[in-house]
Amino acid sequence: MLAKSALYVVATPIGNLRDISLRALDVLASVDVIAAEHTQTARHLLTVHSITTRIVALHQHNEAVVAEKIIALLATEKTVALVTDAGTPGISDPGAILVDQVRSQGYSVIPIPGANAAVCALSAAGMVHPHFLFYGFLPNKTVGRKRELGTLKSQSCILIFYEAPHRILDCVADMIEVFGAQRQLTIARELTKLFETIHVCALGDALAWLQADTNQQKGEFVLLLSGAEAVDKGIISEQAEHALKLLLADLPLKQAVKLAAEITGENKNTLYKLALVLKESQESSLKETVILPEV
Ligand code: SAM
Repeated sequence: MLAKSALYVVATPIGNLRDISLRALDVLASVDVIAAEHTQTARHLLTVHSITTRIVALHQHNEAVVAEKIIALLATEKTVALVTDAGTPGISDPGAILVDQVRSQGYSVIPIPGANAAVCALSAAGMVHPHFLFYGFLPNKTVGRKRELGTLKSQSCILIFYEAPHRILDCVADMIEVFGAQRQLTIARELTKLFETIHVCALGDALAWLQADTNQQKGEFVLLLSGAEAVDKGIISEQAEHALKLLLADLPLKQAVKLAAEITGENKNTLYKLALVLKESQESSLKETVILPEV
């Protein structure tokens, strides 16, 4: 039984069409309308599961306009499901604008959980750090990409990126330049599909591995990069990292580390290593700041 006047946000498979929950199928079969990123992709999935519900297109270029039409449907007690081409709507995909508008009009938004490429990759990567930062797609061009990567350099948690096949080599090359060769990279390609590959290596070896077999450059990618070294070696509390950042802003490095260790009880060596990483990333982002000449 569906709720009246509700928007269901339904996760769909990221490859294998059987990776969809029974509840998702029930909802897709029962709603009045399905809003889909590409109607053909949605129709293919629905046909496999013998579902004939009406589909309308909702993508990043018409989301705000279609949202108004969907709200008009909800006003007449109809139910609507939102799906994207793959995985969970709103995650590097359309959905947030529609959900926001529906919610602000007072209608229910009901998530139906399921596949997501980032979480799927993380579950099979075996990276032990308890935290991760999902970044999604980096900028397309090297300058912007390296700038963004620079801002992530001091992050201690696992960094998760989405990448397209035509940018995979450039992206990995930029990562090596920004983070050095030592970090661990997990390359998760074509998850749940025929050529699924999950390869774990040192970041410095990743480019050669990709270049050795052009097949490994094809398909869809999730990249998972281990975090800043100081934290890899002994997990540091967020509170200690925060204290260190504040102290580093006003004090010389050694003094900041000593005080941070006294205040937080954190290991001095670990804090020292982290302070070096923080300083380095601060300096590299300063170097990239363009100072315009005065006229
Ligand atoms: N909403 C989706 C989700 O929940 O994961 C993400 C959609 S985003 C437009 C598409 C990107 O997700 C791809 O470029 C790729 O980086 C990643 N992706 C999607 N399916 C994948 C798969 N089967 N294997 C590896 N990465 C995948």
